[in-house]
Amino acid sequence: MSLRTKTARTTARPDLRIRPGFATDAVHAGQEPDPLTGAVVPPIYQTSTFTQHGVETLKNGYEYSRGGNPTRNAFETQLAALENSTAAFAFASGMAAEDALLRAVLRPGHTVIAAAESYGGTHRLLTHVYSRWGVRTVFVDPQDPGELERALTADHSAKVLWVETPTNPLLTVLDIAEWTRIAHAYGVLCVVDNTFASPALQTPLSLGADAVVHSTTKYIGGHSDVLGGAVVVGNAVWEDQPLQDLVGFQQFAVGAVAGPQDSFLAARGLKTLGVRIRQHCENAACIADWLTTHPRVEQVFYPGLPEHSTHHIAAQQMSGFGGLVTLRVTGGEAAARVVAESTRLFGLSVSLGGVESLISHPATMTHGSTAGTPQAPPRDLVRLSVGIEDVEHLIDDLDRALLTP
Ligand SMILES: *Cc1c(COP(=O)(O)O)cnc(C)c1O
Repeated sequence: MSLRTKTARTTARPDLRIRPGFATDAVHAGQEPDPLTGAVVPPIYQTSTFTQHGVETLKNGYEYSRGGNPTRNAFETQLAALENSTAAFAFASGMAAEDALLRAVLRPGHTVIAAAESYGGTHRLLTHVYSRWGVRTVFVDPQDPGELERALTADHSAKVLWVETPTNPLLTVLDIAEWTRIAHAYGVLCVVDNTFASPALQTPLSLGADAVVHSTTKYIGGHSDVLGGAVVVGNAVWEDQPLQDLVGFQQFAVGAVAGPQDSFLAARGLKTLGVRIRQHCENAACIADWLTTHPRVEQVFYPGLPEHSTHHIAAQQMSGFGGLVTLRVTGGEAAARVVAESTRLFGLSVSLGGVESLISHPATMTHGSTAGTPQAPPRDLVRLSVGIEDVEHLIDDLDRALLTP
């Protein structure tokens, strides 16, 4: 084992350069000590409603927790700071966040252009829910911005460009600035799902995107103990109104808000994102390197590998290459399933971004809803969410699973 890690290439190792100020903002933005008691950690305001000074005067602006709750607002301030913004909105799940943003900007007759290889749930939301409300979705190749340009020329009802980078599950990295520039030339709003990278590795708003969505269930929560989502917006104006007003209205009017307990857990997780992501990246790079030499592995996808199709974009756009690694197993789907079911440390599970390592078979698990479509992932593919355990133990575990007959 030690011999193998010694001889493994180290090319995928990240030169992690998280932006200056990130660590301090993560710990302090929105997280000031409680003014009443001095409690270092902002308390969990487990209350549905707030008493008022008078029928028209509120105490400190709080009226009812769907509209605003101090614990949720503290998390929203913290996340906004880390995404280089001032406006974040927290929801009960990533899907609720996506839905709020789409409702805020779309009408029947509009088209969404989505880069393929997106999260299975996003695919389901667009093709099974929004389709029934007269919103069409066109998928384009994430490796080909020319296809985006052709789709925009062909469909003048296109209003939203939806990209995810790195993509799920092939970890293709899109040039956010380039895709945004093309979308904006056609008056199209550019949304980036930043769940896989997290704000520690890239801030899409700084690259021109109009809105960022997160499943805070993943790296932001970071401990697989809370479900949540968020929308973060910059200064975009949509149909003459600030986008942040439109999203804030949806959050209040539709109401899929993050509760105080969940907001507390997300905020606690976010404080350590920087140090966690460092270990995720280091372990993932080490595992990706090692996998490239394994006889049972057909192909490895990791943006940090020089042979990855979009390594050059990742190296320039991201401060690190992330904690996800996918691989194609020699022997096809049957062999991939055996590997996924044979690890001991890697838990067989959907989801990602927690401190513990997870393994999944995307074609049947996360991407089941894409079966039979061009968006379906290869059936011999296995996805790893690499945790922060000792990397030697993770490699031993994978080696044993890959060599299972
Ligand atoms: C998990 C995930 C979502 C959906 O988030 P939930 O919190 O599960 O609702 C959206 N996008 C990506 C990239 C995800 O990984």
